[in-house]
Amino acid sequence: MNQQNTLQVWVNEKYVPYNQATVPIRSHTLHYGTGAFEGIRSYETPLGTAVFRLNDHVNRLFYSAESIGIQMPYTREDVAKAILDTLQVNRIGNGYIRPIVFVGDVLYHLNLAKNQRDNPGSVNLAIIVGPFNYFDVDMKVHVSRWRRIPPDCVPVEAKLTGPYVTSTLAATEAGEFYRVPEALQLDINGNVAEGPGENLFIVSGRKLKTPPRGFILPGLTRDAVIQLAKFRGIEVDDQHHFTIDEVMNTADEALFSGTAIEVYPIIGINRKPVGKGEMGEITALLQRDYAQLVRGQLMLPGAEEWVSFVPKTATLDEKVQASL
Ligand code: PMP
Repeated sequence: MNQQNTLQVWVNEKYVPYNQATVPIRSHTLHYGTGAFEGIRSYETPLGTAVFRLNDHVNRLFYSAESIGIQMPYTREDVAKAILDTLQVNRIGNGYIRPIVFVGDVLYHLNLAKNQRDNPGSVNLAIIVGPFNYFDVDMKVHVSRWRRIPPDCVPVEAKLTGPYVTSTLAATEAGEFYRVPEALQLDINGNVAEGPGENLFIVSGRKLKTPPRGFILPGLTRDAVIQLAKFRGIEVDDQHHFTIDEVMNTADEALFSGTAIEVYPIIGINRKPVGKGEMGEITALLQRDYAQLVRGQLMLPGAEEWVSFVPKTATLDEKVQASL
């Protein structure tokens, strides 16, 4: 049996077997891309399952939903608790968590506020969890013809389903046309923005540089990497727009940051090696530190709340039963 089929999905406060967790065919989100979602990681540790930056992810989920006028039917505390519960029910250690807010069976009005007035209860939340498989690729990237959607077209700092069509175009082009694992996308001004699902950093002359907020999704991992680097005494410039030429001519190292990919070395851009064409010293340091940070084994000042543990109780099946 497919491993997915044994998973329980949290849907509007109930646990539903994976293959029964479905979306109505007239879902507004399916037709118009009006969904908000998150990607969160959990890690197996000697102290139990640790979830990295749970509250920050939940806050971003609320921000994303509200940015398009979706009124969340739950509190932040409800959602955070439901995420921990869903991990527990499914006995997930190293995992990936995908909460998604979607609008149900209300196809015909684009106006989301009207839809919600006319169809109370049409906003849904599902929480899908599953085991996570580590990436193991030679991360080479190619600049895509598909640019990031500018901030005057969508709320750029929100994680909304619709705008991800541009990410899938870029990722597909990278894989199928350039035959590399990932793309790099430019912003509308032609500066380097980010990957389709990752933020970009370069190291040049021992300084870590990343594009500023404005045209990117400012990742929680990006923020963690900036804080880790400062903690390690590495100079960080997060206000500098750079062109692809600058990246190719000045980068000694390049890396992606993201919840799924964590801290990952980019060894080639547009068919040319970055630096020595292998993981550099600063990337290796940040990768090691990040691995400890997410497991609660390294503490940054002000980051005491970054790791939440899944409570250990022995009543998992009861929870599923109780939710039916
Ligand atoms: N940029 C984009 C476009 C993304 O989809 C993601 C993944 N959420 C990121 C950056 C990295 O964000 P985070 O570190 O919060 O996962």
